[in-house]
Amino acid sequence: MLRVAVVGSGPSGVYTAQSLVEQDPEVCVDVLDRLPCPFGLVRYGVAPDHEKIKSLQRNLRTVLEHERVRFLGGVEVGAGGVSVARLRELYHGVVYCVGAAADRHLGIPGEELPGSWSATEFVSWYSAHPDAPGDDFLRGVRSAVVIGVGNVAVDVTRILARGAAELSPTDMPQAALTALAASGVREVCTVGRRGPSQARFTTKELRELGGLPDTEVVVDEAELAADPAYGDPSELPAAQRRNVEVLRGWAAAPPRGARRRIRLRFFLRPVALLPGDEGRVGAVRFERTAPDGHGGVTGAGRFEEVEAQLVLRSVGYRGVPLEGLPFAPERGTVPQLAGRVLREGAAAPGEYVAGWVKRGPTGVIGTNRPCAKETVTSLLADAPGLVRRQVPADPLPLLRAAGAEPVGWAGWLAIERAEAELGASLGRGVVKLPDWETLLAAAGRAGLGT
Ligand code: NAP
Repeated sequence: MLRVAVVGSGPSGVYTAQSLVEQDPEVCVDVLDRLPCPFGLVRYGVAPDHEKIKSLQRNLRTVLEHERVRFLGGVEVGAGGVSVARLRELYHGVVYCVGAAADRHLGIPGEELPGSWSATEFVSWYSAHPDAPGDDFLRGVRSAVVIGVGNVAVDVTRILARGAAELSPTDMPQAALTALAASGVREVCTVGRRGPSQARFTTKELRELGGLPDTEVVVDEAELAADPAYGDPSELPAAQRRNVEVLRGWAAAPPRGARRRIRLRFFLRPVALLPGDEGRVGAVRFERTAPDGHGGVTGAGRFEEVEAQLVLRSVGYRGVPLEGLPFAPERGTVPQLAGRVLREGAAAPGEYVAGWVKRGPTGVIGTNRPCAKETVTSLLADAPGLVRRQVPADPLPLLRAAGAEPVGWAGWLAIERAEAELGASLGRGVVKLPDWETLLAAAGRAGLGT
């Protein structure tokens, strides 16, 4: 019987487990995760007000409840945990689905000023990730700048502009809800270094900004018109054309005098973050850019400063190396061919990757399905060779011996119950537990559940 470990229980890990059990009637899969909770970015990345996408958890959970799939949370793999080499000994095959855990940097002066955060840190905070930084995002903030125009930028812009009444029904942790409800943010400026036709957000997400209560979206027609595709968007791919049309509509709309403003700006590249009061960030200095005719931009030598007591850098995720696995730093991924890990250019039998660690941090959740399927096809093609090696019938005691204290499915169900109880006590629906201590205490009530 083929025994496989999948490392990571986000969408790519769960789709890998699903593909394995669907294609092999005997395979047994352990899905390991560093956190005691499953679902990766669906739990800790999808915005709390995107209930429909979050409801994907229901599909993912049916996979983790499959009789030949076992969830083992709280298991760190790599440095400080179970080594890659040890995991390889415990299973016939290991599929790494560890995503892209870090954020990209701008590499400009002032980036480390207090008040400057990566969007990932902000998302982790309002999503109750147990490693999220403290509660200091919104103190004294009137204006925020979001750098980047991808879907994460749209998410954080929207959350900053939403009021308590809309956030309260979500599973957002109580501290984040309280801080956002009391927020004095009146203006969010979301800025792209290229033109509107090159923005990475999707139209559905963009449109949502226009529907926020007591908030108006402000777009400068002249900035849009600097995009060569603006005059005649008919040549653009449909997705970009729709974005330009939505932006054009906002540019033409008269001001409404709403309580909050979202300004969407283009052709500005950040060159420095400038200090304001108490050494915290006070403004972002941008250089105006112009299209270079090849899809990029060049600096126009004209500068402007935009006031901001909070700066969120939303310029994409970045993969981080996992000790014991090869890593291509320029791409932030593990070198692979059809999902097989390449060591010194040759396929390493029994080691695979899927998801962002395989193809980089792009695509929507569904993109992980075909990606996982390709990897599983490679693994199952290798299986006859892999099963010749003896592996333990149950690796759990050996994982424990290697220092892991796994939280099983019953432990996770206990966390879910604790989150429902917490929500009921606060007069809300489910409210997420925000730290390691409370998560492990809740799981511990089920004896960690393994
Ligand atoms: P992204 O889509 O890659 O967008 C990154 C943005 O940062 C781009 O606008 C990029 O501009 C800009 N950028 C990069 N380096 C920059 C720099 N040095 N200075 C200024 N701007 C810079 O990344 P993301 O928003 O983090 O999203 C990651 C993936 O998750 C995407 O596939 C996204 O669709 C997905 N996602 C989906 C949803 C959803 O479906 N609701 C929600 C969240 C995330 P250039 O284009 O000029 O490089």
